Order: sequence, then C-alpha cells, then structure tokens
Amino acid sequence: MVSLLCRVRMLKLAGGLLLAGLLALIFGRYSTAGRRAQLHRRRLENDRDSVVPGSEPDNIFWAVQVTDIHVSKFLDPTRIKELESFCTESLPAISPSLVLVTGDLTDAKTKDKLGSDQFEEEWKTYQSVLKKSRILERTKWIDIRGNHDSFNIPDLKSIKNFYRKYSAWQKEGSFHYIHQTSFGNYSFICLDATLNPGPKRPYNFFGVIDKNQMHSLSLLAMETFHSNHTVWFGHYPTSVIVSPSPGVQSVMSSAVAYLCGHLHTLGGLAPVLHSQHQQGTLELELGDWMSNRRFRIFAFDHDLFSFVDLVYNDWPVILITNPKPALYTNPAQEPTSRILRSTHVRILAFSTRPITSVKVSIDNVDLGNAIQSSGPLYTLKWNPQNYKTGLHVISVQVEDAEKRQIRSHLFSLEEDISLEFNLFASLILLTDHYVLAQVLFVFIVLSQIVLLLIFRLKRKPILKGQPGFFALTSFSMHVLCKTNMFFFSVLVLTIYTAVGPWFIGEIVDGHIGACFTFGIIIKGSFLRGSLTYFVGITQMIFFNIPMTAYLVWSLLLRCKGHGFCSHLHYIRKSVCVPVYILVILLMAWQVYSCIFLMMTYGTLAAFLSPMKLWLLVATIVLGRKVWWFSSPELRAYITELKNCQSS
Ligand SMILES: [Zn+2]
Repeated sequence: MVSLLCRVRMLKLAGGLLLAGLLALIFGRYSTAGRRAQLHRRRLENDRDSVVPGSEPDNIFWAVQVTDIHVSKFLDPTRIKELESFCTESLPAISPSLVLVTGDLTDAKTKDKLGSDQFEEEWKTYQSVLKKSRILERTKWIDIRGNHDSFNIPDLKSIKNFYRKYSAWQKEGSFHYIHQTSFGNYSFICLDATLNPGPKRPYNFFGVIDKNQMHSLSLLAMETFHSNHTVWFGHYPTSVIVSPSPGVQSVMSSAVAYLCGHLHTLGGLAPVLHSQHQQGTLELELGDWMSNRRFRIFAFDHDLFSFVDLVYNDWPVILITNPKPALYTNPAQEPTSRILRSTHVRILAFSTRPITSVKVSIDNVDLGNAIQSSGPLYTLKWNPQNYKTGLHVISVQVEDAEKRQIRSHLFSLEEDISLEFNLFASLILLTDHYVLAQVLFVFIVLSQIVLLLIFRLKRKPILKGQPGFFALTSFSMHVLCKTNMFFFSVLVLTIYTAVGPWFIGEIVDGHIGACFTFGIIIKGSFLRGSLTYFVGITQMIFFNIPMTAYLVWSLLLRCKGHGFCSHLHYIRKSVCVPVYILVILLMAWQVYSCIFLMMTYGTLAAFLSPMKLWLLVATIVLGRKVWWFSSPELRAYITELKNCQSS
C-alpha cells in the first residue's frame, strides 16, 4: 500500500515536471518579451549624431500594403468598385512612394467555391482597375502572386498564367527592388513561395521554397548590405512556408520586417496577427481586402520603422512615427537611440478632407498642437528626457473637416523594456505548422501500428470473474488483432494512409498526378507535403481510428453472442443510438470527401481514390463481415465470455 502511494506520488511529480517543462518550452519558444535586450547588443552603433527626428520633412518616406484582393467574377462586385475608389481617392490622399500588393490578386475559385481555375475575366477586371485609376502613373505598384493566382497552372509559361499578362509587375519569382532616396537606399525583397506547377485548391495552401530558391534568397539578402533598411514581403506567413534548413526566418534575419497576407484574419478569429522572429524581424500579417477592406501604411522616419493597419475609408488616418511603439521595435536593425535624441514628435496625418488639428498628449498631459511641416507630416517640439524611464502612452487626436480620430500607443526610451506580442498571434506566426502536422501524423500512425502489433503478438489473458470495461476492451482488441481478416485490414489501411497514393487525378488540368500524405507528384515535380499531413491527421482521427473502434465494439458484441439484428434490439438505446449516429456521420463525411474530391480535382480523382471511394466501399464490406463472419476461434471466444459471465 505504502509503495503504491509512493508510486502515485512519484508519477504526480514526474507529470508535474513534464508539464512545467512543456510550459517553459512553449513560453520560451513563443515569448517575444526579453528579446529586445539581446537584440540590442547585436546592432553596431553607427548612428550619426546629427541625424535626429526634428521638425524638418527630411529622412522620411511611406508606403502602402494591400493584400488578398480576390477579384472574383462570381462574388461581391463591391470589392472591385471599392478597390477602384481606393486607388482614385484614398491613395492620392496618402501619396505613398510604393504600393505592395502581397498576392491573391484574383479569387480563381469556381462558382460553387470548391473548384479552382484561372479566369481571364477576373484578371482583366483587376487590370482595368489599375488602368482606369491611372494609379501606375502616380506610384510604384508591385503586385506579386498568391496561392490563388497560381491555382491550376501547369507551368509559368502556360497561357493560363494571366499574371504575366495582366498584373503590373508581371515577373514571377523572388526579387530585390531598391527604393532610392536622397537619404539612402531601402531594399524590398519579395519572397515568392508559390508552387510551380500550381495545383488546384486545396493542396496549394502552403508555400514551398526549395534548396535552390533558398540559395537565391540568401544572395538577395546579401545584396542589401549597403541599404539603410530591408523589408521582406510575400504572400504566405513564414509559418506556412515549407523550406529547407535553416528556414526562411533565418534568411530574412537582417530585415526589419516581413510583410505578408494569406490568413485573412483567420475568419475574424485573429484581427491582428503580428509577432517577432527570434532574430528580431517583425512578422506582420495584414488582413485581407477581400472581406475586411484592410490596408497598411508603413513608414521609415530617420530609419525608424512604423506602421498602422487600417480599414478602407475611415479617415483621418494617423501614423505616429516618432516616438514609435515599444512593441514593434527591432533594436537589432533600428537606431532606437534617435528617439531619445529627437527634438520633435512626428506624425503622419492623412485625409481626403482638410485636416484642422493634430493634438498630442503624453500620459494624459496635453503637449499642444502639432504643426504641419510638409504634406502629411506634423511635428511638435518635445523633450524626450522627461520620459527617459519606463513606459509612456502617446495619444494623437486628428480632426478633419468631418471626423475626429485618436491613436495611442506605448513607447519607451529604455533599451530593455520588454513587451509581449499576443500569444495566439505568436503561435500562429512562429510555429512551423507543417513540421508540427508531420510529427503528429507520424505519431498517430505509429501508435496505431504499435498497438495493433502488441495485441497481435501478446498472449490473450484468460478472462476471470466479472470483467470490467477495460478487461472487455482489451479482450475484444485481442479478438480483432488475432482475427487475420480484421487485423490485416486495419494494419494495411494504417500503413496505406501513410505511404500510398490517396488519389490519382487531374491535380492540374490536363496533367495527371498523385497525392500522398508526404507530397504530390505532378508533371515530374515533387511538391513536399504540408496540408496533406493535416488531412492525414483528420483521416486518422475522424475515420480510421473510429472505424477500428467500431470493429472492436462489434466484435465484443459478437463474442457476447449477438448478431446484427439482435444487437440493435437488445443493446441499450443510450449506447446504440449515439454509436450509430457517429457511424452515419463518419460515413457521411467520407461521402462528402468523395464529392469534394470530384469538385476540386475532377471525376477521375473521385474514382481513383483508394483513401476515399475505395475505402468507403471497403468499410461497408468490412462492416458487413464483422456481423456475419464465423470461425472456430470466434466460437471459442464466445464460449470463454459466456463461461466467465456465468461463473
Ligand atoms: Zn487570400
């Protein structure tokens, strides 16, 4: 008894330590606080003392980012109308040096929203917005491809690659664009991780960078050595890019920020997705134009990077460039000491109407009205020495002829102040989701195989007394694993889920390919698995494992002497009804998967799908077999259970 208590205590202690270790790991991995101090030490102080933010309109430029426009021929024409007025009214009011459009220019989805294809009409509409608004004459417009822009494209030279014909930039692949100013060069590196060939949806959700692309990217990064700053931009967040070691985050480590889109605020779950890489680069996902009409203004003011995420047509717009927010500081790349030496608070205020006042307060103390320096730049004299320690709140209220807006943020002049990004945002942006899915998938598959082998190889214990739930479950697991037909069916299914092709079909129109858990083979190319692992996990959890559980349950009832009709009759309704509701739901899901496959990759894929249609048929056959098969072993199990229950 004492040793049992002791063992329980030891187990509790081990569990506690394991949990503590796991939490420490999670917080260590995702905690962004405390990085500033480490990063600061890495920056070489080459700050010229004379360059400090003052009242002059110097050393500043700003740009705009828009993402996920999804021009659609079937849905919501207002997203195009409003994009046009954004180009004709909003952008002239902002007058950015540069506009970055980070992918998914078109929707490329069929009317039923399940299939995908490139529609020339959508591309023409997109181009007509650029032409009608004459925005290309006003500013540099860099529009890159997203996953939707590469759906169903056999290769980049294909006539279907309308991006080449109708976009403004027209060049696929990663590149380095230099924005030249009188105060230095600013590098913008595009990270193009779209797939080539581009499969139809949904196996196009993750981006992929191969070894050669990784090498080219590191060469591009080296080119930026003499630039004042580097910003990387791309469609996919780094957490959904499959890349070889050391990974895309490390190749962009000299950038102040990585700007991306793709996640569309996770359907409203995450309106703000910002975080910071271990190396200091800010990762700033922007919500979509498609449904949320988001856009971003970012600025370099005396090489201090600042930005604001906005909603279309909500004027006036405020961007406080000095002092910049403490949370978004990258001391490894930014000359943060300039804030402490600055003479003026600096604000960019934009509106389509005349701005009437720009009021500044710090820690709820009014500092007065900022004065227009030039264009949208407003400045107000301040003494940063008054705020040398701790955190402070700066609030700016801007009023135009019609409306008033207030923007506030926390700033600090101390080097070691640590602020934390939202943990959920960090989990989304800093996790290598495909690695996680891969590990989880392999773990689930191996666990099931090991479990099957254990019950196959271990001798079945003789039942004694009145067996409880666990004894009966173990008993029927032994029955399943010692009956060849069921053991090999489940074992082969589990192994096949991991290694076999799930379906063969037109992954790109006119080109037959095969989809495996570990990747897709199409047109002689191998696209590494990513979303496929997530689908593999759902297949295991929502079909293979419950199907095995149903077989185990049915076999136990067979050993108790029931047949199909009698078990429906005699088993308690509270057990039978939920079991069969679950069975019907699982089968319905598998049927839906077949239909989904037909809608996304065509009829051939639906018919040549061992993991979908064939499995559905095999499951029905197996479900029938379990109730009708008979063998000497089964009769022995029935006798054993009967003897044990009557004893
Ligand atoms: Zn998108």
